[in-house]
Amino acid sequence: MRILVVEDEPALGAQLVRAIGAAGHTVDSAADGATAHYLGEVEDFDAVVLDLGLPKLDGLSVLRRWRAAGRNMPVLILTARGAWHEKVAGIDAGADDYLAKPFHMEELLARLRALLRRGGEHASARWQCGPIVLDTRHARVQVDGQPLQLTSHEYKLLAQLMQRKGEVMSRTELSEHLYAHDSDRDSNTIEVFVGRLRRKLPPGSIETVRGMGYRLVDLDAGA
Ligand code: CA
Repeated sequence: MRILVVEDEPALGAQLVRAIGAAGHTVDSAADGATAHYLGEVEDFDAVVLDLGLPKLDGLSVLRRWRAAGRNMPVLILTARGAWHEKVAGIDAGADDYLAKPFHMEELLARLRALLRRGGEHASARWQCGPIVLDTRHARVQVDGQPLQLTSHEYKLLAQLMQRKGEVMSRTELSEHLYAHDSDRDSNTIEVFVGRLRRKLPPGSIETVRGMGYRLVDLDAGA
């Protein structure tokens, strides 16, 4: 999944990027409200962690503007401890959840998982497509009950295909979810990663739809 972290406190920002990245997500970050607002407008994120006290444009205004523009990705806001009015204002502005500072990183990751579940069609942290099972909590994959070793790129790619199983995803869409905003995005490399992933998965798992992209096939369906 692709997550945007908005936090102006450098140490906390870096900690969030590290922890969310280690949970198997692609992370972009912004340290002020104006940058955050821009990224949320032009990029597609699966969820956003948004601090409210930000330079240039405060978090509540960022959130209100996104919602007014129809950007409906799940947003978890970070509020000051005990500031109940911030929580109320945040929810009124369209936040999906909130967490008071200071918080335990584990709790933030759990809340984020819950938001991502709500955002996608999957009702649990364990996603299945035929013989392939992906455990989003531990970023692990099994095929027919056997653990499968994947690189972090291969895992992200598979997670993206599984979240939208049965649907065709274009190379551009996949590369947008795989690479952070400023990194070198090249949809040709997707072909290479799909090739590698394909060799590790049961034959026929990833279907190429000519001129359109790739689709994850449920091998047990209709069998
Ligand atoms: Ca702040």
